[in-house]
This record gives sequence, C-alpha cells and structure tokens, in this order.
Amino acid sequence: MTEILIRNADVVVTMDGARSEPQGADVLIRDGVIAAVGQGLRTTGEVVTATGCVVTPGFVNTHHHLYQTLTRAVPGGQDALLFGWLKTLYPIWARMGPEEIRVSALTGLAELALSGCTLSSDHLYMYPNGARLEDTIHAAQEIGLRFHPTRGAMSIGQSQGGLPPDALVEREGAILNDCIRVIDAFHDPRPGAMVRVGVAPCSPFSVSRELMRDAALLARDKGVMLHTHLAENDEDIAYSQAQFGCRPGEYAQDLGWTGADVWHAHCVKLDGAEIDLFARSRTGVAHCPCSNCRLGSGIAPVRQMRDAGVKVALGVDGSASNDAGNLIAEARMGMLLQRVRNGADAMSAREMLEIATLGGAQVLGRDDLGRLVPGMRADIAVWDVSGLEAAGAWDPVAALMLCGPTRVRDLFVEGRQVVRGGHLTTLDLPRVIETQNRLARALAR
Ligand SMILES: [Zn+2]
Repeated sequence: MTEILIRNADVVVTMDGARSEPQGADVLIRDGVIAAVGQGLRTTGEVVTATGCVVTPGFVNTHHHLYQTLTRAVPGGQDALLFGWLKTLYPIWARMGPEEIRVSALTGLAELALSGCTLSSDHLYMYPNGARLEDTIHAAQEIGLRFHPTRGAMSIGQSQGGLPPDALVEREGAILNDCIRVIDAFHDPRPGAMVRVGVAPCSPFSVSRELMRDAALLARDKGVMLHTHLAENDEDIAYSQAQFGCRPGEYAQDLGWTGADVWHAHCVKLDGAEIDLFARSRTGVAHCPCSNCRLGSGIAPVRQMRDAGVKVALGVDGSASNDAGNLIAEARMGMLLQRVRNGADAMSAREMLEIATLGGAQVLGRDDLGRLVPGMRADIAVWDVSGLEAAGAWDPVAALMLCGPTRVRDLFVEGRQVVRGGHLTTLDLPRVIETQNRLARALAR
C-alpha cells in the first residue's frame, strides 16, 4: 500500500456535487486513488505540504495535434486562414517520421503537464515515413500522463478534390485495419486506464462519407470513442453545403457521428438546431479558444451550448495554430472570449475551472476522473498562489483564472508525482528541448 498526503492546502476545489471548497484541507491518496479529503488527515506515507496552494482536479485537454509542436510560428502560416494555413504546412509535415512524432509529443505533453494537465487526448491523422500511433503513446508513457490518442486519418488527396497532398493520404481499408490494430494493442476500457484509443478521421473535408460511416461502425463495435473536427469556420460550413448539401450537424447525424461516445473539436459555427441536437444526443465539444482566435475562425457559442446542456471541454489544439499549449492559459482565454461575445457575467472563473477539469473528464467518458472525492483516481494539480501572479488576490480559486499562476507546482497522475516544485520528475526537459529544436531546424532546411 502506497500513501501520499497533500496537507494543509489553502483551498481544495473538489468539484463534488455541492462544489465544496474546504479550506485548510488535506487530500489523502492511497494506491493511486483518492482515499479521503478533509482536515487533519494522517498518513505513515509521504507528506506534501500545500500551504499557500490551491488544489484542483487535474486539467483535461480534449484536442491536440502534438506533432505540430515542431511547426510553431512557421512564417508562411502565421497569418493565414484555416485552409491556406493547412496548405502551407502539409508539405512540411510530410517530411516527418517516427522520431519527429515521438519528440514533438514529449514536448507538447511536457508543456501540458507543467500547465496542470493530467489527461490529454491527441489527434494524429497523418503517418508519414513509417510513423505510427504508438510513437505518441510511448511518449505519454515516458512522461507519465494519462493519454487518449485517437487514430486519425486522411483519405481524399488533392487529385480527388481534397485539401491534403496525395503523399499524406492513406487507403481507407488500411486506415480501418490500423484502427483495429491500435485499439486491440493499446485500448484499456478499465477504470483508472492510462491509455484509451479513439477513432478520428481528420475532418469531413479530408475523408470520404464512407470512411466517416465505417469509422463510426468500427468504434461502436470496439466500444471506443469517436472524434473529429466540425464546423470550425465559415469555409468549413460552405464546404459542407457545397459538397454534401447540408450543414455539418446534419452530416454528422446522418453518418452516426452524434452520441455520448462522440466529441467534436471547435464547433464555432454550430447553429441553434445543431446545439439542440448535440444536447439531446449527449455529443461532446472540445472548445479551442486560442486556436479559434489565431485562425480568425470566430468565438464558439459556449454559453449557448452550456445553457442547452451540451457537454463542453477545453482543447489547446495543435501547436501550429495556437501556438502555445498551456492549458490553464487556454482556460483563461476561454473565459474571456465568452465575455466578449455575451457580456461580463457570461462565464465565471469557477464555471471555466469546471469546464477545464470535470468537463473534460465528462467529454472523454471518464467517470473515474474530474472530482477530488473518495474513490476517484488521484489526478491532482497543486497551484502555488503565494507568488507574484496572485499576490493581493482576495479569492484564490477565481485567481487561478483571473490572475495566475500559469504553471503548476506539483502534479499527480494516478497518484504518481509527475511534476515536483515546478519541474518534471520523469523527463530531462533541456534535452528534449534541444532534440526538438534540432528536428525543427532540419524540417526547415
Ligand atoms: Zn485540430
């Protein structure tokens, strides 16, 4: 039996049913599971003192393309809209291989961990030069984060009227076979799972109708989740209407892409009927505020979605379109953008904190995560609010969204300490950064 006691936190944000926030409280972890939350708890195991800290559930990132950390701030893509940006980056991505995929994933996951993330999904939709989904899974295992990789795909190349170059697309039969391979090899349906695999054709504009439909059938047969991009911007809506004669929501519904086992990234342009459809069908949304700003896509109707009962979570999106991967900074941007769209009372700091933690767990189908209550898995972020960023704050919980810090002090995943005193315990970070920069320079040549 292994115990860790996080002792005497200024506040513990439990996200329990009453949203209680006990002060001067402890969290006891036993064998990777939360055993107790309260005052005056005892242990014979390790003690981590959290005086001056706010303790929250680990943040959950529900949309990323980790490989894109190798193409941040690429000059030709800095000021382009979505489709132009993609056309600039595809030829660079086509030169990557397994080492680029692994190192870029380590980089992106390190950035997420240091910003409070304990569970990240990833959407890898191209496999150039022998790259495979497990290149990212091995990176997540090395750093110690919980990971929901999705087996993405593109099958309609330029010669068939699609957006990506033909060299980056795969045959649809091979895509489905590889989905089966990685699900069988890596997906773990049990509570406390460290890896769950999803099925994720890239977007309606890069795969066929048949692949969307077959992917949904395969995912349901295997009991795994479905993920893709949807209704990201005006070009995306226009493409759907021109190619399929309907809006993205109807397209998704027709092909089996709604339900509690589906989550869509962006959804900036969902209309009222589509929001109702998502609420009724329990379909989830990965809201990516910085990426939507960066590509000028618009402000997603998160307030309207939440009011209608849609499950909403946060995603930093790929690092080529953010280009940061700091999850708590993403949450702050999400809170601010809803205020731009709907007014100053449209999104409170606590509601955004809920979206970033519990909301993410719910969208990814994890009823074992997202709350600090006994029986839940011990995925925990410890934020030091005694420093400069929050100095003078009257409400330390709201300060996490309104002020800072933007880096976690300690991070626990399944009870294992992945970050201690602001440093990763599992990774030689300077070495990862050096390798990452070497690979980026080689891609630029
Ligand atoms: Zn994306």
